[in-house]
Amino acid sequence: MTRPDSLREVPPTPPSAVVFDLMEGTTSSMQIVVGTAVYDLSSFKHPGGELALFGMANAPHPLQLLFQYHEFTPERLLKILAPYCISAKPATVDEVASARQPFERVIELRLRIQRAMKSQLRRLRTWETRFTQTLRLLGWPAFVAFVAATANGGPSVRACAVVLYAAYVHAVLVWSLHGQSHVVSGGSDHISYCWSCLPFAPHSLAWFMQHTVLHHSFTGVAHNAHAVTADNHVAFDPDVRFSGVLRLSPDEEWQPHHRYQWLYAPLALGLTVWALLIDMFLLATKGQLQLYEDTKVVLAGPHEGRWLTGLLLGSIGAVVGAVVLGGMPIGSFLAAMTLCSFTVGYVNIPTHTNLLTSHAFDGDDYFASQLAESTSYGGHVANLLTAGLSKQVEHHIFPNAPFCALPLMTPIVRKYAAEQNVRYRSFSSFGACLISWYRQVCLLSLERPHGAH
Ligand SMILES: [Zn+2]
Repeated sequence: MTRPDSLREVPPTPPSAVVFDLMEGTTSSMQIVVGTAVYDLSSFKHPGGELALFGMANAPHPLQLLFQYHEFTPERLLKILAPYCISAKPATVDEVASARQPFERVIELRLRIQRAMKSQLRRLRTWETRFTQTLRLLGWPAFVAFVAATANGGPSVRACAVVLYAAYVHAVLVWSLHGQSHVVSGGSDHISYCWSCLPFAPHSLAWFMQHTVLHHSFTGVAHNAHAVTADNHVAFDPDVRFSGVLRLSPDEEWQPHHRYQWLYAPLALGLTVWALLIDMFLLATKGQLQLYEDTKVVLAGPHEGRWLTGLLLGSIGAVVGAVVLGGMPIGSFLAAMTLCSFTVGYVNIPTHTNLLTSHAFDGDDYFASQLAESTSYGGHVANLLTAGLSKQVEHHIFPNAPFCALPLMTPIVRKYAAEQNVRYRSFSSFGACLISWYRQVCLLSLERPHGAH
C-alpha cells in the first residue's frame, strides 16, 4: 500500500482509500504507514471507538493525530503496534521519534498537567461524561417540548421556547458532540450518534474529520485560505473558513467586497453554523462522502453518501412533521437555529482568527503553532457559559481533557509557555476578545492594513 504524498494527488476514489463501512459497523481497511512499514489496525480495539482509529488512518499524517492525543515513547508505541505489522520489517525507533519530534513540547506539557491534576481530571471526566450523555439523551424530548410550546403558547411563551431551545442546541453542539469527537465523554462509532440528539445535526464522521482532524491539526491555517505545508500537504481549517467572504488574515488576497466587511462581518460571524450545516448537507448530493472537494479529502464510499442523504431526509421529515402535524411555526424553529448559530459563531470563531499573522503548522513545532493560532478569554462567567471552552489554548494543548478542567490548567500552561518563551494569548473578557477580532476585521478591510506584517 502506498500512501499519497499530497492530498492534492488523491483521486476521487483512490485505491488506498480507507473505507469505513458504518452500515456494517466494521472497517474493511485500516492501514497506516509509519516510516517504511505498514500496519493493519483493522483488528485493533481502540478504547475511543473505531472513529478515533479511522481518523488516524485517514489523517494527512497518521502519527501526527496520534501524538495530539497520546504521550507514548517511540519504544512503547512500536511495542503496541508490533502485532499489526504487515510489511517485511517494522518501523524503527528513529522513524517514530522523528514523527514525535514536533510534539515533544506539547507532550511534556500534557504530562506536567497530568501529574499536577491526576485525580481532578479523573473525577471531572466521570462527571462530564454523565452530564453530556444525559444532555444528548434529552435531544428529542427537548425538540418535542419545543414543538409543543411554540405551537400552543402565546408570543412570550414562544419567545422563551426559542431562547431555551437555542441554548440547548448550543450546549449539545459545543459540549456533547464536540466532546464526543474528541473522545472526552465516551467515544461513539455510530453514524446516527449526532442525529440521536438533534435534527439537522452534523454527520458524525464528517464532523470528526472536519473538527478533530483538520481544525485541530491545521488550526486557523491562513484563516480560511488553503495553505501548503512544508511537506506539500494541503492544509486548511474548515472550522474557521469564510470562503473569501471575510478577509481575516493579511495573507488572504484582498477583494473589493472586503472594503465593506466591517459592515457585514457581524452577520457572517453569526451565520457560521448555518454555513457549516449547509456545507455538510451539500455532501449528501454526492455519491460518496467527500469533504471539501477542492482538497480531495475523501472519507468513504457510497454508503456514507446514502446515510447522509437519509439523515437529511430524516431531518426535513422531522421538521415538516412538527410543522404540519404538531403546529410548530417554522419561523420559531429557524429563529432558534439562527440564534444558536450566532452564539456558537461568536464564542468560538474569534478565538482562532484573532491575530494579524498566520502561523501554519508546518510540521515543525505543534506547541508554537497552537499557541499562535488560539486565544483564551474570560473569567468565571465565560468559563461557565462556555463549559470551559473559552480556554481554547488549553483545549488545543489537551483536546481530550474534560472541558470543565480547562480553566484549572491555565496557570500550568501559562507558566510553561513563559518558560519556553512562547506567547500565551488571552483576553480578560469575552468582550475584549470580540472587540479585538472586530478591529482586525476593520483593519483588513483596507487593502494594505497598517500594522500587518
Ligand atoms: Zn475541539
